[in-house]
Amino acid sequence: MPVLVMKFGGTSVATLDRIRRAAKRVGREVANGYDVIVIVSAMAGETNKLVGFVDETGPFFDAREYDAVVSSGENVTAGLMALTLQEMDVPARSWQGWQVPLLTSSAHSAARIEEIPTDNINAKFGEGMRVAVVAGFQGISPEGRITTLGRGGSDTTAVAFAAAFGAERCDIYTDVDGVYTTDPRIAEKARKLDRIAFEEMLELASLGAKVLQTRSVELAMRYNVKLRVLSSFEEHSDEAGTLVCAEEEIMESNVVNGIAYSRDEAKVTLVSVADRPGIAAAIFGPLSDAGVNVDMIIQNIAEEGRTDMTFSCPTNQVDRAAKAMTDAKERGEINFHDLVADEAVAKVSVVGIGMRSHAGVAAQMFAALREENINIKVITTSEIKISVLIDRKYMELAVQALHDSFGLDKVAQGAV
Ligand code: ASP
Ligand code: MG
Repeated sequence: MPVLVMKFGGTSVATLDRIRRAAKRVGREVANGYDVIVIVSAMAGETNKLVGFVDETGPFFDAREYDAVVSSGENVTAGLMALTLQEMDVPARSWQGWQVPLLTSSAHSAARIEEIPTDNINAKFGEGMRVAVVAGFQGISPEGRITTLGRGGSDTTAVAFAAAFGAERCDIYTDVDGVYTTDPRIAEKARKLDRIAFEEMLELASLGAKVLQTRSVELAMRYNVKLRVLSSFEEHSDEAGTLVCAEEEIMESNVVNGIAYSRDEAKVTLVSVADRPGIAAAIFGPLSDAGVNVDMIIQNIAEEGRTDMTFSCPTNQVDRAAKAMTDAKERGEINFHDLVADEAVAKVSVVGIGMRSHAGVAAQMFAALREENINIKVITTSEIKISVLIDRKYMELAVQALHDSFGLDKVAQGAV
């Protein structure tokens, strides 16, 4: 029988009532003839609570025990979902990650999936079981310890199962009804997309559109898993939600399909560093060693052998970055006159695979920002994305202006 993966996020399993609603959807797909693998998150708020307990034990906790604790929320929902399905006469049972076994690396709290053997679950499907309910977010390390995949990791569990079992589709049930052109809380004209390409979703996910864990999209792209995001709170047709799929499956597309933003950015400038070979390595080596996630970088034109180096990083890493730079200066590896941090900036990006074949997107973006008198501090581009750093107080305005300028409220008219 064809296999379908259905993943339910925390809000979709927050109460027994909601678990029942989710189970009914699963029951319908079983009636449609699918063997279903259900991946569940912990009940909404549960994982945060568990993380809080661990934090209270002290600052230097054992990461293996952290995983043992925070993975447990999913065990509860997996069992409850199986019980609810059984109650509805659907043959189901639950599996914790280690029982599958979902094999991962030993990187506790950020483990990577290495393999998902299918024989255990397939044997049960062969015996007439129709639903395997699997606890998301967790696995087992080569050392036999419980691991977790990082916050939001059950999306990745779901996609990995879809790939391993050759599922027809991976449906991600969540509390929004799909992927939007931008955040509807910021731009009221934001429109739900029927389809979005993997590459675009990847940019939007990593740029802070928190619908899907970034790694789940990477995995879906690599294994060409059809991923659908849809609401578990609405009744809908088979065409509902947003399908995240390969570019070739998208017939009509705008040049720009999404606008992402990230509020928690900071801009750091090292004033007057020596303009010499190796200076970038001398700066960004220590930053990387200190765990600073540098995003955008600009180096100015040098004058009299000296230049300014500017980079952006998350606001809460500015202190760490400043310390790394001051330490490097004390060690004599770099020299700068001043370190200036601007912690009130935001990043706004336009994303679209159509940019590959259409010129003028950058010019249009800059013109739209000029119309609103918004000053651009840093610009970076990639094949399908243009990002700017601006004052945080203009972020909403910028998102709205760009959404209007690129006509994202209108359904795509042509192929790109
Ligand atoms: N429960 C985990 C978390 O809150 C994993 C997930 O829901 O995806 O991060
Ligand atoms: Mg999630």
